[in-house]
Amino acid sequence: METDTIAAISTPVGEGGISVIRISGPEAVPVADRIYRGKKSLKDVPTHTVHYGHIVDPAFNEPVDEVLVTVMRKPRTFTREDVVEISCHGGIVPVQKTLELLLDHGARLAEPGEFTKRAFLNGRIDLSQAEAVMDLIRAKTDSAAKVALSQHEGRLSRLIHRLRNEILEILAHLAVNVDYPEYDAEQMTAQLLRERSGHIARELERLLETARQGKIYREGIKTVIVGRPNVGKSSLMNALTHENKAIVTEIPGTTRDVIEEYVNVRGIPLHLLDTAGIRETEDIIERIGVERSHQALAQADLVLLLLNYAEPLIDADRDLLSLVRKYTSIVIVNKTDLPRRINLEEVRRLIGEIPMIMTSLKKEQGIDELEDTLVSLFQLGKVELADETYVSNVRHIHLIRKALESVREVIRGIDAGVPLDMVEIDLKNAWESLGEVIGEAVSEDLIDQIFSQFCLGK
Ligand code: GDP
Ligand code: ZN
Repeated sequence: METDTIAAISTPVGEGGISVIRISGPEAVPVADRIYRGKKSLKDVPTHTVHYGHIVDPAFNEPVDEVLVTVMRKPRTFTREDVVEISCHGGIVPVQKTLELLLDHGARLAEPGEFTKRAFLNGRIDLSQAEAVMDLIRAKTDSAAKVALSQHEGRLSRLIHRLRNEILEILAHLAVNVDYPEYDAEQMTAQLLRERSGHIARELERLLETARQGKIYREGIKTVIVGRPNVGKSSLMNALTHENKAIVTEIPGTTRDVIEEYVNVRGIPLHLLDTAGIRETEDIIERIGVERSHQALAQADLVLLLLNYAEPLIDADRDLLSLVRKYTSIVIVNKTDLPRRINLEEVRRLIGEIPMIMTSLKKEQGIDELEDTLVSLFQLGKVELADETYVSNVRHIHLIRKALESVREVIRGIDAGVPLDMVEIDLKNAWESLGEVIGEAVSEDLIDQIFSQFCLGK
């Protein structure tokens, strides 16, 4: 298939001093050379070398920007095509102008994800690695970037390859049994088949267990802070962010600041959600009812409920307490520096298993304990990212679940005495589902759909 030459700005526009334009395809070098003036023609330079020069509009012989140009000839490039990268220095206008010139002189604007798609189609990376590139671009925390990186380096791919090979071995044995029943060299007895399938099922289960953590690292723990007005929600937000971004006021119900932030609590990425309204929970329960409040909370991974140590419990508190019991939550009794008027016995009775922390946010007391509780709640404190293969991509999780279901079907089949050639089909399904994770046997449509989610220029 004939491919054309594509170009796009591959760094975030308007950030930092340098912008990079990437060109890939059979005409990458000649196209760049048409608008480049330097010591040598780019067509004459060795591969993987960097050259200083200027971008010039040939129509007017007018310099556009001072640049460094990197020439990389195939196959040792990201796309396995000829690649030229132009580092521009002059800000947004010259970069846009340079890109326009390239488009005028033989390149086409790349679609989102098209570079990565070419890398995939040319066998440079597999699909899970390509998706990792996408996750990497979106990664919001350091941990998320690490997960995406290790996937990019092929950890998940290797594990999937190994599991697929195991399945293939079983299938090979089965084929011998089914097609040549008289061939008794290495009979795959039902018992052995069951053991092997059980092993694969356990590996898939373990992989899925990491999915939740993978999601957490990628997106952060979605955290909602609830409590009556003036109980200290903004103060808690401040304590967690260590920045005074939220407005703290003396007047009840006046917290109207925009708050949606990522904070790193001992390596745990908290995504503090802006739940305008829910944060003023007293009226919200009256206004929209407990049912709707549930929906608002349902998007949260973690709920932090604040109570006031210096005031008696009121019905609004009790409503909130019964609400948060359904979620992973921590109850924080704040303002312990003031005389106690809350009935702690009643609180304990109402919260059941939910951990309770006492704080004085004003005196900066109890925050350590809150962080301890967070760590133990999510059992992430000791997790070494480098040691685990994480699945964090929704499509992967779905496919691995499907594979696991097929393998369980195999085991159920054997236990029910189903003929071996019947269970063979389920094994093949598992093999195919896993193949889809790494992009073997996926349809053209799916590939397009996946790559279209990329940012431009990747
Ligand atoms: P919100 O309405 O729930 O967001 O509450 P704020 O964080 O705005 O706090 C309301 C008021 O309570 C402010 O004047 C805070 O300074 C004060 N406050 C917050 N935490 C404490 C605390 O631990 N002790 C005392 N005495 N006051 C606090
Ligand atoms: Zn982007």
